[in-house]
Amino acid sequence: MIEILFATSNAGKAREVQAMFSELDVDVKTLKEDGIIVDVEENGKTFAENALIKAKALAGLTSKIILADDSGLVVDYLNGEPGIYSARYLGEDTSYDIKNAKILERMEGVAEEKRSARFVCAMAAIMPDGEIICTEGIMEGRIGYEIKGKNGFGYDPIFYLPEYGMTSAEITPEEKNAISHRGKALHRLQEELKKRIQG
Ligand code: IMP
Repeated sequence: MIEILFATSNAGKAREVQAMFSELDVDVKTLKEDGIIVDVEENGKTFAENALIKAKALAGLTSKIILADDSGLVVDYLNGEPGIYSARYLGEDTSYDIKNAKILERMEGVAEEKRSARFVCAMAAIMPDGEIICTEGIMEGRIGYEIKGKNGFGYDPIFYLPEYGMTSAEITPEEKNAISHRGKALHRLQEELKKRIQG
């Protein structure tokens, strides 16, 4: 059994990682589950920097593999906004209906070919011997014209996937996991962990 401490307070995220690492016998716990309290300032300039900052904040506090992530939506026409500020865009407590409506408003009249956007996810792991492993995953799409779909979370209802003709809030969770930025970053991380654990 490989024990992982995930730098999140979100139990859903930890279960998702547990499910994604299907080829490994892992036990993933959140900070809360392991009774660890840390206050981290995410002051990196990239997703990878922020993931590593969160992971490093836990170094020395556990003998488990430490895992941290950072993700967000990058909109080309908005010069990469909301980017690493995705969760904080318009304020941490502002609803995603409002955040999504604001992005649609800022994209009003913007031609199809200029609506390109992507979700990015960076994962950072610190092994018990101190080795650092970083992986990244990207899901390409476009900003749609309306809020659509009830699955997913966050910016999914405005993230249009041309190959599906739907937003990432309209496809099923299984379909999203198979193509998502988080799914890809976790898959790459699983491959790296397999090399180290299974030799
Ligand atoms: P994090 O939890 O600090 O990585 O913040 C990520 C933020 O990016 C979330 O609060 C969402 O706003 C956004 N985000 C990341 N991944 C997704 C996704 O798969 N769908 C929708 N929004 C996402």
